Amino acid sequence: MKHASINKNNMLDVKPLIADEGQKFTLCLEQELSPNLIGNNPYKFLGFAKLDATAVYSDGAVNIEGSLIVPMEYICSRCGANFKQNLFIEVCEKVLDGNSDGEHFEIRGDKIDVFEMINELVASNIPNSVLCKEDCKGICQICGKNKNEEDCECEISVGANNPFGLLKDKIN
Ligand SMILES: [Zn+2]
Ligand SMILES: [Zn+2]
Repeated sequence: MKHASINKNNMLDVKPLIADEGQKFTLCLEQELSPNLIGNNPYKFLGFAKLDATAVYSDGAVNIEGSLIVPMEYICSRCGANFKQNLFIEVCEKVLDGNSDGEHFEIRGDKIDVFEMINELVASNIPNSVLCKEDCKGICQICGKNKNEEDCECEISVGANNPFGLLKDKIN
C-alpha cells in the first residue's frame, strides 16, 4: 500500500490520491494534543494521539477510515479514583471538495487539514462522565469510604424503611 503524503503540519496532500483514484494510501501519524481540547473535564492526555487509517479518493471525495487512539488519565465520576485508559475513536470521514455545510471536513487547496480533523475528533469524543470500571461501587454517602476498596456497614443499618435509603437507591 502507498503512503499518504503529510507535511510537518499534518496537512495531507490530496493530489497523489486524486491521480490514483481508488488506491488506498496509509495515513498513520502521531499528534501532540493541546490540553484545551479536554474542556472542563478533569482529565489528562498521557501521550500523543495515534491515527492509524487509510485514505482513498473516489467519486469526488476522500474517505478516511481507521482509528484514533489517545492515552488518557481519567477521574471516575462515581468514586473519584484516577485511572488510565485509552480513548478509542472510530474514524470514518468523507471529505468533500469545498462543501461548506459545516458538518464535514473539506479539501482546501489540494490539502486536508488532518491536524484540525484530529483535534476536532478528540474534542468531540471526550466523555463527560467515565467509570473506573463498569460496576464501580462508588463512595458511601454516609461514611465516605470508597466501596471498591473496603466494605462498610452503612447499607445494613439504613434499611429499606428509611426514606433516605430509598432515595439513595434511586440516585444510584
Ligand atoms: Zn470508580
Ligand atoms: Zn459507609
